[in-house]
Amino acid sequence: MVYEYDVVVIGGGIAGFSAALYTSRQGLKTAVVTIDIGGQLSYASLVENYPGVDPLPGLNLVLKVQQQATSFGAEVFIDEVVSLEKEGAYFVLKTKKGEVFRAIAVIAACGKAPKRLGVPEEDKFVGKGLSYCVICDAPLYRGKKVALASFGEKGVEALEMLSNIAREIYYVTPVEEDVSVVKAKQIPNVKLFPRSRIVGLKGEQKVEKIVIQSIRGETVEVDVDGVFVELGFETRIDFLKKFVEVNEKGEIIVDSYGRTKTEGLFAAGDVASTPYKQAAIAAASGVVAALSAINYVNNIKGIKKHILSDWEKKTTKPVKKFRL
Ligand SMILES: Cc1cc2nc3c(=O)[nH]c(=O)nc-3n(C[C@H](O)[C@H](O)[C@H](O)COP(=O)(O)OP(=O)(O)OC[C@H]3O[C@@H](n4cnc5c(N)ncnc54)[C@H](O)[C@@H]3O)c2cc1C
Repeated sequence: MVYEYDVVVIGGGIAGFSAALYTSRQGLKTAVVTIDIGGQLSYASLVENYPGVDPLPGLNLVLKVQQQATSFGAEVFIDEVVSLEKEGAYFVLKTKKGEVFRAIAVIAACGKAPKRLGVPEEDKFVGKGLSYCVICDAPLYRGKKVALASFGEKGVEALEMLSNIAREIYYVTPVEEDVSVVKAKQIPNVKLFPRSRIVGLKGEQKVEKIVIQSIRGETVEVDVDGVFVELGFETRIDFLKKFVEVNEKGEIIVDSYGRTKTEGLFAAGDVASTPYKQAAIAAASGVVAALSAINYVNNIKGIKKHILSDWEKKTTKPVKKFRL
């Protein structure tokens, strides 16, 4: 099916729904295409630092913004955008389910996803003994034997949580010595594999064994009930790369208006070069990208309306041209 929209937002995290709230409220036909609802905030059991909102689970915060966006007409599609092309004035987005979206403007709010181990058969075991979120899934492994791949502060947090729940933990870390290694040595039910990586996952229906390889190339196979991977987060934007510049962190470089190097393509939230990765900042940058997209779409449609905010009187003052 081919859909036509003024704006397609890629990503149903807080940045994407904040952007969609603004574009749909300004009367632009808006679609949010997203793999899931909530993004990274789904991993946050409690958000205490979102201005003006009582502490609440991260997912609930995103659901509130989604509800606001859909109340103004934004439509949500659970799907993954796999390609982006430009055809004349339109962007053409294709999805994993085979849908096609044509849009005058696109807002990339595709955030960051957990880093993967990068081993064969990883996809097969996701949710089948392989988890990228200790906070979310540790309670499922009470009294069980698990492996944890991590390092640094996130390793410390994961070890503290898992050691109170699991019977035994194999801690596999690429480093020789850091805070997480110090912590691992203090916990009796942790077996430490420093300067090592998980290089294989084995099992029929779920993970049953892992292969650990040391920096010297020695391998050992151990039985586990589950594997946790806490190696940080990364952008996944290969399908956008020819339209954007990226920085050393793999983030899309945007100017202060949320504009990328391609006219009509905006980026917001954790996927963008905006500093400080926080919910309030992701939401605000979604709003910035949305206001810029609204002006872009109006201009393409020949509508002489240029907004500087969502409530002020309209003005025709143009914004400065963006140069990378
Ligand atoms: C465990 C944890 C706890 C946190 N706690 C807090 C906190 O307490 N307070 C705070 O302020 N911040 C917190 N953060 C940070 C906050 O979650 C992020 O800054 C924020 O969620 C970023 O929002 P985003 O919308 O930019 O991206 P994301 O939340 O990453 O959302 C991106 C969305 O894009 C979708 N997507 C990606 N690629 C595609 C594609 N190709 N096609 C379609 N959809 C796609 C994803 O499925 C996802 O829905 C926490 C983060 C984590 C990981």
